[in-house]
Amino acid sequence: MTKLGWGLVANKDSLWARVLRAKYYCGDDIIPTMRTSSNSSQLWKAMVRNWHHTSEGLEWRLGDGKRIRFWLDAWVPGCGKLCDIALAPITQDEVGACVAEYITSLGGWNWSKFEFLIPNPINLKIAALHPPSSAESQDRVAWRYINDGRFTVQSAYQRIAGVNENEQGSLWRSIWRMQVPQRVRSCIWLCTQNKLLTNAERVKRCMTHYAECTRCGSSFEDVLHAIRDCTKVKSLWLRLVKPSKWPLFFSLDLDRWIQLNLSMKIGVLDFDWTIIFAMTCWSVWRWRNEEIIGDGSSGEADPFFTIIRRVRNVREAFDMVAGGQAKSAARVNRIVIWERPELGWLKINVDGASSRDNFEMAACGGVVRNECGDFVLGETFGVGKVVIEMDSLVACEMIKAPIVDTHPCSALIRGIHSRCNGVREVVFRHVYREANRAADAMPSYAYRMNRGLMFHSSPPAEVVSVLNDDMLGVRTTRACVAVS
Ligand SMILES: [Zn+2]
Repeated sequence: MTKLGWGLVANKDSLWARVLRAKYYCGDDIIPTMRTSSNSSQLWKAMVRNWHHTSEGLEWRLGDGKRIRFWLDAWVPGCGKLCDIALAPITQDEVGACVAEYITSLGGWNWSKFEFLIPNPINLKIAALHPPSSAESQDRVAWRYINDGRFTVQSAYQRIAGVNENEQGSLWRSIWRMQVPQRVRSCIWLCTQNKLLTNAERVKRCMTHYAECTRCGSSFEDVLHAIRDCTKVKSLWLRLVKPSKWPLFFSLDLDRWIQLNLSMKIGVLDFDWTIIFAMTCWSVWRWRNEEIIGDGSSGEADPFFTIIRRVRNVREAFDMVAGGQAKSAARVNRIVIWERPELGWLKINVDGASSRDNFEMAACGGVVRNECGDFVLGETFGVGKVVIEMDSLVACEMIKAPIVDTHPCSALIRGIHSRCNGVREVVFRHVYREANRAADAMPSYAYRMNRGLMFHSSPPAEVVSVLNDDMLGVRTTRACVAVS
């Protein structure tokens, strides 16, 4: 239903959406008015009932800024509606205003109108957005739960089911990264999902009537009992876990217990705790099964030393594999150098940086040079031929690839393309950081400056020595992965 709802918005002009929208009087706006009447079909009624799942997932992407209401619509990625986070009440006149009304005549953000009403981190996010312009097409809608704004049924389902993908994902990643055999990882994953076939689980699946632990007589054998709390295994954990951590270790519920063991070093031994933890859980579960299903005895003299031996074997095996991989991913030194543009071309090196400490500030900068390697003012290149170099492969590929309309950076990329139209020829190229050092120095310099764009007629002091190095053709070596 959520997918159909999304289709009514994203594929507004397709035949099926036009028919439905006309039949049920949804209006011409991109966001349909959803209502039912007594003669609505069952399908339509279900769509209207589920509409809030769709509408909550919608987020706007700026185009001309004439449809999006500045305060009432969600358009700053990941921030929800601005009226919910405003620092002071919004006046009645302002509250319904569209984003285009917050732009100056020069096309930049009109900060004086809203800066004081919004927390600073959100202002910085707005500063990073390409301001709407009438040259752009209409505002668009994106799906907020996916980074590039494209709708997926999976993300909608996870949202509705309340699954926190990040939490599940990070748990899965930390289990996947453990350096233990695959069967041990699977066992830990089954523990996290509460799916080990304990007696309590067997009762749940109608495989037996007895939920008690046959080893110690306790009345209920669930995963935590079988792996941690059974008297048969508790003594083993007491020898492995630091005494100061015992109260915490034996009191947590299953989820938090596993998270604790995957994230903290709580063992007495000088080994990676996650490996000891995983190997112990797996061994304990195996011994339990051998004892119940097998000949009635686990056959292990001292499980503590068996665990140590197994952990050691696993470590050695993984170290051997890691050694083999290090050999195959050999690196070679390559000379990296900034190359002057060809005659008649200008070269712009650009780079960006962000700082976590400084309110997550971000800055970017660029250096324009001619075929002699001389610094030239950015504004002077008019209609020449330009090579633009950057050391971010992701950014470079994104600029060269077709634009994904729902992506948060789509307006920015479109802005880049439209600026390129005024230049005779533009080539975007990825270079290693060592060849981009002049641009690399600019953002750190820009942090200290005011927000906004600045042009320099002569290079700032921070960049001069790098410019000289580049002009003299100073070489840097870089260890690159050898391509066989
Ligand atoms: Zn027991």
